[in-house]
Amino acid sequence: MLSNSLKLFEYRRIRIEIHYSWLLLGFLVASSLATGWFPNAAPGGSTGLYWLAAAISAVGLLISIALHELSHALVGQHFKMSIDRITLFLFGGVAQMNDEPPSPKAEFWMAIAGPIMSVVLAVVFFGFYEFSTQLGLSEVVQATLSYLASINVVVALFNMLPGFPLDGGRVLRSALWHFKKDVVWATRISSGIGQLFGIFLASLGVFSLLRGDFVSGIWGILLGFMLISFARSAYMQLMIKQNLHGRSIAHFMNPRPATATPETSISELMREFVNHEDQTLLPVVREDGALVGCVDPRVAGQFPENEWHRHHVAEVVQACTLDQQVEPDTDAQEALARMSKRGYRELVVVHGNHLLGVLSQAALIRYLSLRQA
Ligand SMILES: [Zn+2]
Repeated sequence: MLSNSLKLFEYRRIRIEIHYSWLLLGFLVASSLATGWFPNAAPGGSTGLYWLAAAISAVGLLISIALHELSHALVGQHFKMSIDRITLFLFGGVAQMNDEPPSPKAEFWMAIAGPIMSVVLAVVFFGFYEFSTQLGLSEVVQATLSYLASINVVVALFNMLPGFPLDGGRVLRSALWHFKKDVVWATRISSGIGQLFGIFLASLGVFSLLRGDFVSGIWGILLGFMLISFARSAYMQLMIKQNLHGRSIAHFMNPRPATATPETSISELMREFVNHEDQTLLPVVREDGALVGCVDPRVAGQFPENEWHRHHVAEVVQACTLDQQVEPDTDAQEALARMSKRGYRELVVVHGNHLLGVLSQAALIRYLSLRQA
């Protein structure tokens, strides 16, 4: 799902990465600093100096957000939650949790840890700023430190908006969960509030645009939509959990999928893919139903098209990876999570070495949207 990312570092088995969108947004931040903040705060400097300070500030912001997210993750680990990776977006990140917090208390502390870190960072940068003014360091240095102090305040405040899945929304959810002992209800309410905040922010953005303030307008709209989509996906996660958890994939798989045999020619194979557009992978089975491997349409690229009829699946078939194979009693929520994580569109359902069917991500999503309707 979030594979468009660049690894920064790894700490305590947590991979910290930035989403590629950060590179663009980081550049936007740097350019607005270089043309707005620095010329205002430290007039008379050269353009090169402003850009240098702006780049340093953008990196400082990135590090601040990484520390914010890392504190969520470390508190999560303290509560025995498994967290593989953190993906940094502009004003925050997403800690990829493999499971929900075990209790309202765990959720509360995990959620509040990030904003506390941002406040601490703001205090530290403010301390450095004070120090730099007393030492009479250059105005550009002072402006960099005051930017980093104030941006950490902004990060703390933005994340404390009480809409799930922002930190504030998680704090709210933990409180609702604590009082009513119903995590599903608590999630519905807090992600609903999250969407409302998103709509509010985006409308503020539109207003600013209409008044001619492009920078705040774009930011507002961007953040608003980000918030709406995060709140929606958080609710979706809940839907998935409610409807798929505890149900086996045998309910959802296609028991008569398109298949190939080792003798199938590449041209027949391609015809199968054309006729079964819902399948991006074909299980290869022997006559007795034993699974030999998996093929996807890319294998055809190994031969020129006019030779497809002379080559056979046996030449290109590869063993299906363990990840691609599931037993029919596998939990449907777990199977969907595995597909999203690995980027698979389908899984091969087997019992022992015998093919039983194909489970597609599309079928699960169709089922969920029918349930929602
Ligand atoms: Zn946070």
